[in-house]
Amino acid sequence: AIPAISQDSKPLRIGTEPTFPPFEMQDKNTGKLTGFDIELLEAIGEELKRPIEWVSLPFDGLIPALQSGSIDAAVSGMTITPERAQTLSFSRPYFKAGLAIAVQESNDSIKSFDDLKGKRIAVQIGTTGASTATAIEGTKVSQFDSAALALQELLNGKVDAVVNDAAVTLYAVKEAGLKGVKVVGEQITEEYYGIALPKNSPLVNDINNALSTLLENGKYEAIFQKWFAG
Ligand code: GLN
Repeated sequence: AIPAISQDSKPLRIGTEPTFPPFEMQDKNTGKLTGFDIELLEAIGEELKRPIEWVSLPFDGLIPALQSGSIDAAVSGMTITPERAQTLSFSRPYFKAGLAIAVQESNDSIKSFDDLKGKRIAVQIGTTGASTATAIEGTKVSQFDSAALALQELLNGKVDAVVNDAAVTLYAVKEAGLKGVKVVGEQITEEYYGIALPKNSPLVNDINNALSTLLENGKYEAIFQKWFAG
C-alpha cells in the first residue's frame, strides 16, 4: 500500500495582505514576501515542521477566508479585538502596536485625536484605524485598500490626516522615504497583534507553543532586531 502523506507535513496555508511594511511586503528585487510577520511565521513553520504556503489577500478578505477555511491562519499585523475574537481565535499576542496620526508636514493644527473632529481622514479598509477614525465626531472617512494609498491621498491634499498603525506609518516616512508627511501621535492606542485562526482551530495550541519556543530560544528576538533595531 502507498503510505498516506502525514497530516503533520502538510503545508500551512497562511493569508496575508502584503503591502504593510515592515510586517509584510514584497521584496523589490525577488518579488518574494518578506518582513517581520513573514519571518516569524516561517520560523513557526520550522518549529511545526510544516512548510508555509502564502496566500495574498486584501485585508478585508482575510477574515472571510478564515471563516470559509480556505486558509489555516492569517498573519497580517492584525490587532486582537473583542469584536474579531467573537468569530475568530487568536494566538497569544506577538507584537505591541498602536495607531498614529499622520498629517502633511505644514499642518500644525492636528496633534491628537481631539483635533480630528470634523476632519477628512484616510484609512485602510477593515482596520482598527478605520473604526477608530469613524468613531470620532463628524469625521469624513475615506477607505483605501492599502495604507500606502491612504498616505498618497494625504500627500495629494485630499484628506487632512491618515490614521494607521504607527510602526507602518513611521516605516513609510523614515525608511521608505515618503516626503511631505509627518507623524504627530505615536501609539495613541494600545493594541496587540495576534495570528488569527478559524474559531477553535486545533492549530491555536501548536502555534502558541511554537511562539513560546521562539521567545525562549532567541529566534523571536533576532527577527525583531532585524526589522526594528535602531
Ligand atoms: N492593526 C490593524 C488592524 O488590525 C491594521 C492591520 C493592517 O492593515 N494590516 O486592523
